[in-house]
Amino acid sequence: MLDIRVEKCAQLKEKPADETKLGFGKIFTDYMAMVDWDREKGWHDARIVPFGNFSMHPASTCLHYGAEIFEGLKAYRRKDGGVQLFRPWENARRMMNSAERLCLPQLPEEDFLQVVTTLVKMEEDWVPHLEGTSLYIRPFTFGTDETLGVHAVEHAAFCVILSPVGSYYKEGINPVGIMIEDQDVRAVRGGTGYAKCGGNYAASNRAGERAERQGYSQVLWLDGVERKYIEEVGAMNVMFKISGEVVTPALTGSILPGVTRKSCIDVLRGKGYNVVERLLSVDELAAAMENGTLEEAWGCGTAAVISPIGKLAYKDRTYIVNGGEIGEVTHMLYDTLTGIQWGKIEDPFGWTLRI
Ligand SMILES: *Cc1c(COP(=O)(O)O)cnc(C)c1O
Repeated sequence: MLDIRVEKCAQLKEKPADETKLGFGKIFTDYMAMVDWDREKGWHDARIVPFGNFSMHPASTCLHYGAEIFEGLKAYRRKDGGVQLFRPWENARRMMNSAERLCLPQLPEEDFLQVVTTLVKMEEDWVPHLEGTSLYIRPFTFGTDETLGVHAVEHAAFCVILSPVGSYYKEGINPVGIMIEDQDVRAVRGGTGYAKCGGNYAASNRAGERAERQGYSQVLWLDGVERKYIEEVGAMNVMFKISGEVVTPALTGSILPGVTRKSCIDVLRGKGYNVVERLLSVDELAAAMENGTLEEAWGCGTAAVISPIGKLAYKDRTYIVNGGEIGEVTHMLYDTLTGIQWGKIEDPFGWTLRI
């Protein structure tokens, strides 16, 4: 158990009056949590302090060599007024794995959970009430060594910030257009693809911008070695229903192991669907689009939960999936996961944690 001290704000901020205009990650709550780390003392000085700017040495490792990892999860307002988290244990464990890959210090899972739940409890009134809204939780760890020398960090900090976010689907769930990227790659096997780190995002930006300029909302990544196998879409995992079976790329090391992905698989198997995790080549997908056996396609991640894919572009061809409409299985997954997350339906899996 960490001993978390609290430094109170002199004055609290005004809560957003209009929950239809929250957007994503623009508004922050009154407090943030911090825990320092160094090689001698380990984790120490856990504290909840007023939200504000950091003061940082210009040579700090995180600013030069990408010594940064993060997590993303949400606190949901239940119908009965309570607040709950969705599978926070998974985020705690994944952050340990990300830290191990980047040689950043590993915050023990129980300490991660203690800091997150203590902060969210304190900021409970910031969890919005409007349908589809939530309080986004962003834990992150970054290296703070004050040297330009390149090595594993000796000093680091863990921080948690909170942001009330709007509904992802204000105009209803509309299928999106996705461009299959055959030039840039996001990650390679043996690299940092399975770690949730800022560096992976830096590598993705150029293709993302290019797709957006061409009117697509995300890119679908191919593997970094052969540019042949489907990996994931933007910052979401991806699933396809082909000839009645659900196919999702196997976790080969270059794919981020999403909590939503794992939850989709469990829900689908629980309902008797056949789900296979395997290599899926872009040629096989193109053939399934040509011959009409691709029935549904969707992305899955914490931000959107489920994002139906209505259009896929590959080289100079574009394919319409399921007539550009949201499919039956896609819809079922959306209703089931959001139902459990917002406490609208029973949680038979034990995935939620009441705060
Ligand atoms: C966070 C993330 C996901 C989705 O993971 P969830 O745990 O479901 O939110 C997928 N891909 C990338 C690259 C990510 O960073």
